[in-house]
Amino acid sequence: MTAYKRVLLKLSGEVFGGGKVGLDLDVINSIAREVAEVVRGGVQVAIVVGGGNFFRGAELQQRGMERARADYMGMLGTVMNCLALQDFLEKQGVETRVQTAITMGQVAEPYIPRRAIRHLEKGRVVIFGAGAGMPYFSTDTVAAQRALEIGAEVILMGKQGTDGVYDADPNVHADAVKFDALSYDEFLARGLKVADATSVSLSRDNDLSMIVFNLSEEGNIARVVQGEKIGTTVSR
Ligand code: UDP
Repeated sequence: MTAYKRVLLKLSGEVFGGGKVGLDLDVINSIAREVAEVVRGGVQVAIVVGGGNFFRGAELQQRGMERARADYMGMLGTVMNCLALQDFLEKQGVETRVQTAITMGQVAEPYIPRRAIRHLEKGRVVIFGAGAGMPYFSTDTVAAQRALEIGAEVILMGKQGTDGVYDADPNVHADAVKFDALSYDEFLARGLKVADATSVSLSRDNDLSMIVFNLSEEGNIARVVQGEKIGTTVSR
């Protein structure tokens, strides 16, 4: 039994790079295997892909680039992650479609929400790339927006090496405490950075729950989809 019928999985660029620049194909392959297992169990899975393993607009801006152009580079980076994930999912025998917010007909469909829903109903994984197609946004915010538009029941925020939301950065503060659950308002009031504030406020305004969990532990995607209490749930 699964807890959800349709989920939106957010994979940050960090996951694709295994913490480095570029792609860690072993990590992508193992995530594809886990996603395939969940899909074979009858759950509809849509994925929003980040791109921090290639470029982040804000960082390029600090190094002298114009922000909007740098953000477009960031968005293009997400598409490479999408294609890599598509490849490994299809090797697992799962049908996939990539839909991008910046049109690039040779490699992906354009973002068409009703068509995305149709793909999901047919058991295909839909991978959303190129963010929102708009500078100054993040793929976390896109995850909330896509989840709302396609009617996903929850956002599953898969993280590399972090098993949830802490009251302080656990890499810096050894005594940081992990939350099992917290409200959107508390998340925002504490200025926590695990997800960006825009995505959390969009989720709050539309009562969409978000579960932050560790992707580095094998089997966690299935666990979280089955409703096992892992990670941190951010909700009303
Ligand atoms: N980006 C953007 N608009 C969007 C989504 C992403 O401009 O709607 C750019 C932005 O520069 C961002 C980069 O793409 O830094 C990569 O996305 P993000 O940082 O969200 O990826 P993640 O942190 O998940 O790896």
